[in-house]
Amino acid sequence: MPNHLAYSALNYFGASDLDRAHLRRRDAAWLSQRLQDPATVLLPFLHLKPLLSDTHQLMTLSVNELPVQDLGLSPIFLGLKEDRAYFAIDLQENHGFIPLGGSFQELWEATLPLARPQSSLLAYAKAMIHWNRQHQFCYVCGAPAVSKDAGHGRKCTNPACHTSHFPRTDTAVIAMVTCGDSGLLARQASWPKGQYATIAGFLEPGETLEHAVAREVQEEVGLQVTQVEYHSSQPWPFPASIMVGFTARAENTHLHLDPAEIEDARWFTRSQLKELMSTGEIKLPPALSISYRLIQDWLNADVEQ
Ligand SMILES: [Zn+2]
Repeated sequence: MPNHLAYSALNYFGASDLDRAHLRRRDAAWLSQRLQDPATVLLPFLHLKPLLSDTHQLMTLSVNELPVQDLGLSPIFLGLKEDRAYFAIDLQENHGFIPLGGSFQELWEATLPLARPQSSLLAYAKAMIHWNRQHQFCYVCGAPAVSKDAGHGRKCTNPACHTSHFPRTDTAVIAMVTCGDSGLLARQASWPKGQYATIAGFLEPGETLEHAVAREVQEEVGLQVTQVEYHSSQPWPFPASIMVGFTARAENTHLHLDPAEIEDARWFTRSQLKELMSTGEIKLPPALSISYRLIQDWLNADVEQ
């Protein structure tokens, strides 16, 4: 049994070195002090895009450069690293802040040059900003909901309701399906030409993660799986999901595709896939994805499954 804590940390966005310091989220005096401390690190986002340099390196600001309290911003406390507090800042255009360097860039385009702990930090920050943006109003009564616990909760302002809301993560499962020494990859019509990936889909209420894998495989390619094993997980900040990765064994190779979701699916041996990748006929998903890692781990496995 692998050490899954270490195993998942190998996934992009999965290697956090931040102490989330959750007890500080309700410590208003401490938070206020940190928001005046020049050592504090601010991660500004505009339209869910982080501030990055021209070479896609993470750019942070100090409270001297971005006076969040004066501007009336609602900073989200992320945690501590080397005794410095980290906050995510959701800028609005009407705040009038223009950075002196860098630009606000899509995380998707910028990720690979980032050091892994930085990618994890940005994934966390983006998910928190997204959740706060999406929960401006109480979903029980529709009244405005205001931030609490330094951005880690929201509370309905209707005295008759007062529902507390907490950040949510959308759960998706993703699986490398094998049968004997063959592996299954599939593609959707909207993907770049030649790109294939593993089967994936969202967890539905009332099912286990393993059942979700079996259902998605059955729905998308018509296969029954006989064994499902956990591989690793990956925060997926597009915008706020967790990808839970598995391997799954199919009882046979007879495919029945769902044309609404899957344009093509194929079985490959390892040598076939390596050959088609070398000629460029088959392309794997982006290297930052857990799908890429699941495929690579299967390709690199010494023992045929
Ligand atoms: Zn309410």
